[in-house]
Amino acid sequence: MSDQEFKRALGYANSAFDLLKRSTVPPYPQFYELFYTYATGVNPTLNNRINAIFRAGDSPSESLAEQLYNEFLKSDVNDRMTAVSQRMHARIEAVHGAIDTAMTTANAYSGLLQSASGDLSLGISPAAMKSLSEKLLAETRHMQYTNRALEEKLLASRDDIAALQRDLDDVRRESMLDPLTKIANRKSFDDGLAAAIAEVRGRHDPLCLMLVDIDNFKSFNDSFGHQTGDQVLRLVAMTLKSNIKGKDLAARYGGEEFVAILPHTDIEGAVIIAENIRRALQAKELLKRSTNQKLGRITASFGIAAFRPTDTAASLIERADRCLYAAKHAGRNRVINESELVNTVTPTRKQGASAA
Ligand code: GH3
Ligand code: MG
Ligand code: MG
Repeated sequence: MSDQEFKRALGYANSAFDLLKRSTVPPYPQFYELFYTYATGVNPTLNNRINAIFRAGDSPSESLAEQLYNEFLKSDVNDRMTAVSQRMHARIEAVHGAIDTAMTTANAYSGLLQSASGDLSLGISPAAMKSLSEKLLAETRHMQYTNRALEEKLLASRDDIAALQRDLDDVRRESMLDPLTKIANRKSFDDGLAAAIAEVRGRHDPLCLMLVDIDNFKSFNDSFGHQTGDQVLRLVAMTLKSNIKGKDLAARYGGEEFVAILPHTDIEGAVIIAENIRRALQAKELLKRSTNQKLGRITASFGIAAFRPTDTAASLIERADRCLYAAKHAGRNRVINESELVNTVTPTRKQGASAA
């Protein structure tokens, strides 16, 4: 960690402490994490929610902090992963125990057989023979009993392990999805883009990346509330998903930004897809279900870049981002692809924002 990083992290930690002291929230680790995250500003939605509370002259109560922590930071998937791994562990322990018992019994049994064969070869009296065969019989029964117990445990384990396997698959699938919109999350996007680039590298197959950002979404949220905003995010995600197919991957890139990886697709094809999505979004008149209130329409801006042999994932994303910035700059609700960019002087939105 560099000096600068250390100072930055310490600054966040101090802010988190100040917030804990100022509010009525007990300084437990989860609430520290909540305020630390707030201090970093990485989650604008969380910050908007907390800011709204501060703006109203309040500070978050313990129950509200709990709710925010559960909503934004507590990972359900992690909890479930832990539960599955604990069950797996217990099951493996039980099978180990049963195998150990069976092995001890089998060893004792083979020891007994060995000494019995020694006794028999020496020639023994009928009385000793009788006692030996009784002992052998008893040990054989014990052995059978232990084997049956092991078999039963293995059988029970087989069903349990199959159930665990299914749970694990569910958790794995879920860990790749964005919890709000149920489309691929940032992590699956990163993995998907790396895989798509690896596949196309050294070939002449086109690959396009499309970035989507909802227009003026902040003011939509401010006017109609976050929950309605969340509904819109779901709508955009579904619209995106229903307009792509095959090996394409639509993901939530973060906040109100989405992304689609379009393999085997050139710029012209990607523009058609983007235009379809753009038109589908602007065509929808939004209604608040609970009150039937009309919410108007939302639009989105699109940036499209095509993979070049010299590209990395980062450089491809950056070009798509420049196009998106250009689309915003040109008035929003439009698709800009990289062939429309004049030279390469267009800043990315981040650069644009910091320059402003
Ligand atoms: P622009 O057209 O330039 O993109 O304007 P904008 O208002 O959409 O962009 P800005 O980056 O200023 O604001 C993004 C807003 O998106 C801020 C935040 O309120 C909203 N947002 C981000 N994530 C979520 C979310 O998970 N739920 C909701 N409801 N809103 C979100
Ligand atoms: Mg944005
Ligand atoms: Mg936006």
